[in-house]
Amino acid sequence: MRRALILVWVIILTIPAYTQQNVSPSNKVDPAYFVTRNREELIHKLVDMPWGIKADDPVNVILQKIQTFLLAFQPAAEYSDDIYAKAANLQALKSVMQGGYGIGSVLINKEGKIIAAAHNSQMQKHRSDLHAEMTLLTNFEESRLAKEYVNIYVYKPGLIVFSSAEPCPMCYIRINTTGADTKYCTPGPDDGMASRTDFLPPAWKEMALKRKVSLGNCSPVMQKMSHLLFYSYLLDNRGPK
Ligand SMILES: [Zn+2]
Repeated sequence: MRRALILVWVIILTIPAYTQQNVSPSNKVDPAYFVTRNREELIHKLVDMPWGIKADDPVNVILQKIQTFLLAFQPAAEYSDDIYAKAANLQALKSVMQGGYGIGSVLINKEGKIIAAAHNSQMQKHRSDLHAEMTLLTNFEESRLAKEYVNIYVYKPGLIVFSSAEPCPMCYIRINTTGADTKYCTPGPDDGMASRTDFLPPAWKEMALKRKVSLGNCSPVMQKMSHLLFYSYLLDNRGPK
């Protein structure tokens, strides 16, 4: 009887831990998924998604099918950041459709409202600095809206930059410099800086540690879409060789 009671307690104590583990976004998708080496791997992953993509679809048809799915996508309550992931992915897709890189960002205020959005436009505008986050922050700082949120050049607390993909070193430093927190939908095992704060020079690291940085609570389908849009340059080998 005593052993049975202990067993029941072990089961009761284990269930919440297991549930907690299951809702952790990092456990939803195998980390190996977030590395795509070539066009063949990308096409395989695209065909595998519920977007109706066929291996021999032309690039514009692939992008239209992604757009159809994304526009109709309804974020579920259990994934609290999917609303931002959808908006960032729509930005990313916009850039890809323009011939650019597939990364998008949105700026969120402390009430959870999206107050600005932007996408990467390096290739469209031939500017090396126009990553999604850089464009987002520059446009925001130059807008009239900024007066409400900016104190000199450091933002008032509570703003979050949410990116479809983990910010690169340049963007991560820029976000930290503004005082905003960082969230992202898909990790960047090959290029992301947000998960590598320890590698920053001491003063930059100290500043970065004052900000919050996290992988968003996003559904597997949004995480995968962010990743596939990021690697969409493999579809037609766009970008520098
Ligand atoms: Zn960047």
